[in-house]
Amino acid sequence: MTSSDSPDCLFCTIVAGDLPADVVASSDTAVAFRDIAPKAPVHVLVVPREHYPDVPALAASAPEVLADVVALADGVASDLADGQYRLVFNTGPKAGQSVFHVHAHLLAGGHLPGFD
Ligand code: 5GP
Ligand code: ZN
Repeated sequence: MTSSDSPDCLFCTIVAGDLPADVVASSDTAVAFRDIAPKAPVHVLVVPREHYPDVPALAASAPEVLADVVALADGVASDLADGQYRLVFNTGPKAGQSVFHVHAHLLAGGHLPGFD
């Protein structure tokens, strides 16, 4: 499924350039933009250009694109922080997923709190 197949998807709209976003990096297959409500000094969302609802769907259908998402996130973490980061894929509403276009939360730029 391509971006144009999901016109009602918020992140497809951002990828298409039809909704403004603070894009910090991009590749042929993925786009990285700042989260509108940052939870860390650096909080960037990294999304594939094509629409997949969540990370298991992306991993099953296009594992090479998942690798691209991780590589783009790693580059952004080096550019905007010190290369140390947390990468989070919320998967499902109970886990906090609210946008069903797979996205990695890249959190960096400081000492991040633990999970306890
Ligand atoms: P989720 O809750 O699905 O894991 O993450 C969705 C993220 O998208 C949230 O962290 C939220 O702040 C962010 N977000 C929601 N709407 C927008 C928007 O219009 N622009 C940007 N840049 N981020 C958004
Ligand atoms: Zn989408």
